[in-house]
Amino acid sequence: MRTYKYKIQHQANTMRLGNLIDDMHQVHEYFLNYQRQRYKEELPYANYNAMAAHLTELKRTTHPHYNMLPSQAIQMELKRIDAAYQRFFDWTKTRKGNPKVGRPHIKPKHKFKSFTFPGESGWKIENNRISITFRKYKNGKWKRDPIWFTFFKHRDWIGKICRITIKRDTCGAYWLCITTDASDTTDLPQTGQSVGCDFGMKDAFLTLSTSEKIQSPQFLKRDIAKLRSLNKSLARKQKGSGNWWRAVRALARFYRDLQNRRADWQWKLAHRLVTEFDTIAIEDLNINAMKRLWGRKISDLAFSAFVAKLSHKCVKHNRELRTAGRWTATTKPCSKCGHSSESLSLADRVWTCSHCDTTHDRDVNAAINILRFSAPA
Ligand SMILES: [Zn+2]
Repeated sequence: MRTYKYKIQHQANTMRLGNLIDDMHQVHEYFLNYQRQRYKEELPYANYNAMAAHLTELKRTTHPHYNMLPSQAIQMELKRIDAAYQRFFDWTKTRKGNPKVGRPHIKPKHKFKSFTFPGESGWKIENNRISITFRKYKNGKWKRDPIWFTFFKHRDWIGKICRITIKRDTCGAYWLCITTDASDTTDLPQTGQSVGCDFGMKDAFLTLSTSEKIQSPQFLKRDIAKLRSLNKSLARKQKGSGNWWRAVRALARFYRDLQNRRADWQWKLAHRLVTEFDTIAIEDLNINAMKRLWGRKISDLAFSAFVAKLSHKCVKHNRELRTAGRWTATTKPCSKCGHSSESLSLADRVWTCSHCDTTHDRDVNAAINILRFSAPA
């Protein structure tokens, strides 16, 4: 599976996409409430087919306006709800799988950002235009009403389309995501090299066991003055006014650009690591604990986002990603003789082993230990 993302050109009727997302949120809210009500009344869970039957009934009776929405998009939303409940049931029945899975919750409107179509129907693509099939009521009947939108087709997609998703971002821009069945894996030539990576904040973003230190640009720190001025400008506006909304969008654009720059840098670094090494070992990080300790800087460096990118790249290029457990000591043991120097403090950047007299850089030593004590993830 491979997903391609295209920006949809702003045009007079782009708002229809936004309205459709909001309408789909109502469907989402309705059916989750429906399941909760059934549970309260001690009725059995309504699976996808039961929900679809209930939808047909709704369209005929109390919710005729649901007829206006593309039915395929509603079906996909019901499937999404059903899948979320199935995951929850799997966990409650077997206690296997992800323990973080809870009862599906109702997303607030501002967090509901997309709708999806299956691969075969509800839309049509011709060159750089896509039509979404709405419905309209005409001469006593509901009829198909395809609306065309133009998108910036900066590249071709490979493979057969499995589904398409329309997304709205915080800046109010709309994106077309095309998921195809193309295989996303390509093997890279073996290099025979392994590396351990130590994340850090003091000296470098990443220290490799090859004793290389990689610095991360601190994107937020660099633009903090701009962020402050945007926030101030927002605070001066009257809430809800046209200028206030303009300032809100400017702030959202600032964060989107920041994220894009950070993601770009991280993808490039992840790509470099997978091209140079067959095996990559990292620590299992406790990000929340680190945030409490270090504050904003850690969010700016965004370790967990980097780990996600790295593991994606490893799967894609058939590389092995190993992790050293959270409680594995990696700082104190000497990477040469294994002697643990208990007196080491956070301030000691360079130290000498009392047992074998090797001088270590703190982070490089940790990176070597991470590589040594890591196990396949
Ligand atoms: Zn030693």
